[in-house]
Amino acid sequence: MASELTFDALLRENGLRATPQRAIVIEALMELSHPDADAIFGYAQERQPSMSLATVYNVLDKLRGAGLVHMLDLHGRRYFDVRLEHHDHVHCRQCGQLADVNRPFGTRLVVPQLTAWQIDDQALIWEGLCPECQQG
Ligand SMILES: [Zn+2]
Ligand SMILES: [Zn+2]
Repeated sequence: MASELTFDALLRENGLRATPQRAIVIEALMELSHPDADAIFGYAQERQPSMSLATVYNVLDKLRGAGLVHMLDLHGRRYFDVRLEHHDHVHCRQCGQLADVNRPFGTRLVVPQLTAWQIDDQALIWEGLCPECQQG
């Protein structure tokens, strides 16, 4: 995982100043696993009570615009991810956890409908029940 320093440099390389608001949103993204804007807001509020939800959205927009954050859309809810290389996710329908799945490179799924396409990315969201929720 990238250090804060790297993100500082990344921000500057992408023409973004390293403001305290941006730093706290990036910290939240790194600490929480695929948070939504509300979770980032909660994290930021504990550290910077003056920070508004609007600011969180604003920072997320800027970071996405600079290609530093990916957005996952799941059943109309938006989650944010600072891990930029291609990877799948798995989502538990019951407890809502959203975790990274590392599919070995080269294990592409081949679908007949897409054989005429030149596919350069394939990121899936797997869904089901996590081991803990299966026991409940
Ligand atoms: Zn679960
Ligand atoms: Zn991820």
